[in-house]
Amino acid sequence: MNGIRQHQYLKEIGITVWLERKLAGKETTGFNVKSVSKENRLLETELDKNLDYLSSQVQTCNFCELHKFRTKAVFGIGNKNADWLVIGEAPGVEEDLKGEPFVGRAGKLLNAMLLSMGLQRKEVFITNILKCRPPKNRDPKLDEVEACGNYLRQQIELIKPKVILALGRIAAQNLLKSTTPIGKMRGNSYLYPGSDLPVVVTYHPAYLLRSPTEKRKVWEDLKFAQNIFRGLI
Ligand code: SF4
Repeated sequence: MNGIRQHQYLKEIGITVWLERKLAGKETTGFNVKSVSKENRLLETELDKNLDYLSSQVQTCNFCELHKFRTKAVFGIGNKNADWLVIGEAPGVEEDLKGEPFVGRAGKLLNAMLLSMGLQRKEVFITNILKCRPPKNRDPKLDEVEACGNYLRQQIELIKPKVILALGRIAAQNLLKSTTPIGKMRGNSYLYPGSDLPVVVTYHPAYLLRSPTEKRKVWEDLKFAQNIFRGLI
């Protein structure tokens, strides 16, 4: 994607961009700067089989009480060999009906955020901490996060992303086992516990729809994540 198109996407999400001096004149979009070795990843057919099996387990899971309220469990969607794993909180009403994460207005905003980094939705893998919708979109309970955590851990092990983008407080705090407010977590890189996989924290698109003035902070976070992916940080 060229710089003009990137700026169009940024305009869509409400951000005016000034290039950093050190990056001006260089390619600042996309993630093709760093070639990533995938030799340790599973063979595609084996990966498909394992993820499909995991997804089928999620569809019939009754490990926590949320199974009673769901229309469809939401396993996740996207590129099974993705370098980027995007993790949100839990399905909302539209996601529950469709069985797909991040649809509706928040999903459109997430797509625009990804495009601003030169990524299409189908290039990344998108999932949530919880695979079933909590009633009335309440916050997940600890026992639900623990019950569902094994699915997320297996997704991470199978997909082997290069960077995790954690969207919102619930995703960030549960992934990193932290109680720090999200505003203080932003701007730092973390490691997914027990690994050398970087995690970058930013606001959830649903929050941005309610607080559009925070979009610039998200753009800063996305640039930060790009630089981590490129090995510049
Ligand atoms: S939220 Fe997770 S653990 Fe709970 S029923 Fe759904 S898939 Fe199972």
